[in-house]
Amino acid sequence: MLTSKPFSGSGWVDSHCHLNDIPHLNENLEQAESAGIRQFLVPGTHFDQWAQVSSLHSGRIACSYGTHPWFVTDPDIEEQRLTHYLSQHKACAVGEIGLDFYPAINPRPDRVLQLESFARQLSVAQQTQLPVIIHSVRAHQETVRLLKQQPAVRGVIHAFNGSIEMAQDYISVGFLLGIGPQLLRSEKLQRTVAQCPLDRLLLETDAPFMARPGSQGNPLLDLIAVGERMATLFAIPVTDIQRQLTRNTHELFF
Ligand SMILES: [Zn+2]
Repeated sequence: MLTSKPFSGSGWVDSHCHLNDIPHLNENLEQAESAGIRQFLVPGTHFDQWAQVSSLHSGRIACSYGTHPWFVTDPDIEEQRLTHYLSQHKACAVGEIGLDFYPAINPRPDRVLQLESFARQLSVAQQTQLPVIIHSVRAHQETVRLLKQQPAVRGVIHAFNGSIEMAQDYISVGFLLGIGPQLLRSEKLQRTVAQCPLDRLLLETDAPFMARPGSQGNPLLDLIAVGERMATLFAIPVTDIQRQLTRNTHELFF
């Protein structure tokens, strides 16, 4: 495990990675640190896993807690558990929470249940004054509608992969966009990102779930490839991308 040296403010920050699901974690973290990735945010996705996430907390690893839309079952209990857990553990955000209306083979939880749980967790974020990390799939209008009901809540739309119009909707309600390895594959996303204000973007890997083919077995290193691609899109030096996106992440979460 990494030591808790104070974070210097330079280097890359991975604003969304599931370190608890990464095999050979210590080796991969050391390699990522040597490559210049200095800080990691690990979102918890369901109550049974929050303790495992919080055990990773250190000077370089920040944590957040929430019930992901795939795992919602009872909005009352989810709200109570979240409020209680946040009163006992250090968290930099509520998340990941949100809506997923993708018609998957394994049906997602009922839409009404997802909407209720998402709304309750947004109000916990509002009460605790924490930013939120949002998973939104095929649920853009509903996500924006709920965010407008909580105008004080800020956060990030994680793994953003939508159109410029969708990006503008989120930016207009005070949200940032988390950009991950999809940027390396999608020309449409590249065009969208190139039109976004740089101070509204964050970098993330969502490791290990979005790993691109050929990422040398360490999905954390994809962060740098995404940052480099972004530098090309904006036609500015990689160090400027790193500085700006690290600053964005710190302003939102730390
Ligand atoms: Zn995630």
